Amino acid sequence: MERIVVKSPADGSVVGEVAVTPTAHIGSMVERAHRAFLAWREVPLPERVEPLRRLKRLILRERHAIAELVAREQGKPCIEAMIVELFPPLDVSAFLMYEGVRLLQPRRVRSKNPFFSDRRSTYYFHPYGVWAVIAPWNYPFTIPMTQLMALTLSGNAALLKPSPLTPLTGAKIVELFEQAGFPEGLVQVVQGGAPQGEAMLAHPTVRGVIFTGSVPIGRRVAEQAAQTNKKVILELGGKDPAIVLSDADLKHTAQGIAWAAMVNAGQTCASVERVYVERRLYEPFLNALHGELAQIRVGHPLHSETDMGPVVARFQLERVQRHIEDACMKGGRVLLGGRVRADLGELYHEPTLVADATDEMLGMQEETFGPLVMVQPVDSAEEAVRKANASAFGLTASIWTRDPRKAQRLAPMLECGSVSVNSHIVAYGDSYGVWGGFKDSGVGRTHGEFGLYELVQPQYVSEVYTGKPELWWYPYSERVHRITDWLMEFLAAPSLKLGGKTVRRLLPEMRYLTRHFSPLKMTGGMVRYLR
Ligand code: NAD
Repeated sequence: MERIVVKSPADGSVVGEVAVTPTAHIGSMVERAHRAFLAWREVPLPERVEPLRRLKRLILRERHAIAELVAREQGKPCIEAMIVELFPPLDVSAFLMYEGVRLLQPRRVRSKNPFFSDRRSTYYFHPYGVWAVIAPWNYPFTIPMTQLMALTLSGNAALLKPSPLTPLTGAKIVELFEQAGFPEGLVQVVQGGAPQGEAMLAHPTVRGVIFTGSVPIGRRVAEQAAQTNKKVILELGGKDPAIVLSDADLKHTAQGIAWAAMVNAGQTCASVERVYVERRLYEPFLNALHGELAQIRVGHPLHSETDMGPVVARFQLERVQRHIEDACMKGGRVLLGGRVRADLGELYHEPTLVADATDEMLGMQEETFGPLVMVQPVDSAEEAVRKANASAFGLTASIWTRDPRKAQRLAPMLECGSVSVNSHIVAYGDSYGVWGGFKDSGVGRTHGEFGLYELVQPQYVSEVYTGKPELWWYPYSERVHRITDWLMEFLAAPSLKLGGKTVRRLLPEMRYLTRHFSPLKMTGGMVRYLR
């Protein structure tokens, strides 16, 4: 049987190995998940919370081991893994147990449509069934774990396919679900790469996919999912801008941007990769950012005083180097870094700061996904917003200013899924925040209320027991035609006065209407709504 041997990007040591799932096994795994789903969807919501509560406690108990596994397998420092990989699932589980259960309960529809407002109408939220969760390597624990938590609470089952670069963390996630007492087969792990992903997507019983990864693979996933009409959620790449206004707090801004550009060695979909600075603050900001980046300690992810570990693989280093070389050729100034740290190991790179970036540079257009931040001066906040939006990506952005009015004016002008002011990537950390991108950065959402509703199919149930026909049923007649015409005029009249004229014609027909048809309920509020 084929195996994946995981070598640590930090030092090449073997972290462990897993067996690749033969694609021929995937069909039976899907069927098992489907059987588990059929029973699980009947479990009342408050009871579905119990294994989630146990899962939360297990994560808390095993947090050091999980952080160490991620550090060894993927390369981010242990402390960083604690913050970025473990806090979000703990918070998301609390959100789901508290808000999720409330949001998924059936709820009454308060219609203002006069034809239907007198009935009992209800929304029910149904799970889809079996999902494929296809995950990336850069946040191998928090991304699939939080997605699986929300999927299972809402009554779904899932097969998780972690990245072949981080299969051990993927296996650990599914082990935790099993230990927490979720039903057998409800959450399973598929190990491998594209062939396994494609086999999951080809199966007609898989009804949805949450794909987190690159734009080109995301497109292929959507194309394949369309063959069997699966629900598709795509969380894709980013090229996040930070906009620094001339009134920004220099120290705070430089500190925040240094972290947001270099966290996880820059391998974050929402890393700050482009910074647009109002010209008056340009040189002071470069000095301040240089000062912050120069203090970052690059080293082994298991050392307690390391700020930044290695990148995950050689292809990452090559892209960073290509973007730096391209910037230099086009007039960029490397103010800090720029080189591989071969003294530390094969995959370490210096935090790199490029000033005088221009729009044509690759590092201002393509996702770099490494420890490189590029800075460009601009003449105004409006120019910064224009440049920030002139990208195929639209994941997140940040604005750095002391003036709330400016921030509140600019934030809605940015074409992206979330905006942080005087911070960055806040939406992912707050489980009430919604996560997802505009444009090429994604389709659909995860996290928060909107993310939860993506995982269920809303069903509208309308009840009426009068035994009377609806006004629009057969037989059509001249009288009903006339009444319908007056009703339209009355309900959609541009003013109450004009509507009043029609009422006089309608009134004599009201007895006929109420005697023969399902009741209409009209109030002044409804008339305003229709107008
Ligand atoms: P990737 O697209 O190379 O791979 C993602 C997953 O897809 C892996 O599990 C991979 O094995 C699988 N895969 C590959 N080919 C497939 C196919 N044909 N069919 C089905 N599955 C297939 O991405 P990556 O390198 O693992 O992750 C980095 C990318 O992910 C970056 O672009 C980053 O911005 C993005 N990302 C986005 C978010 C977000 O929330 N928007 C979060 C993390 C990472």
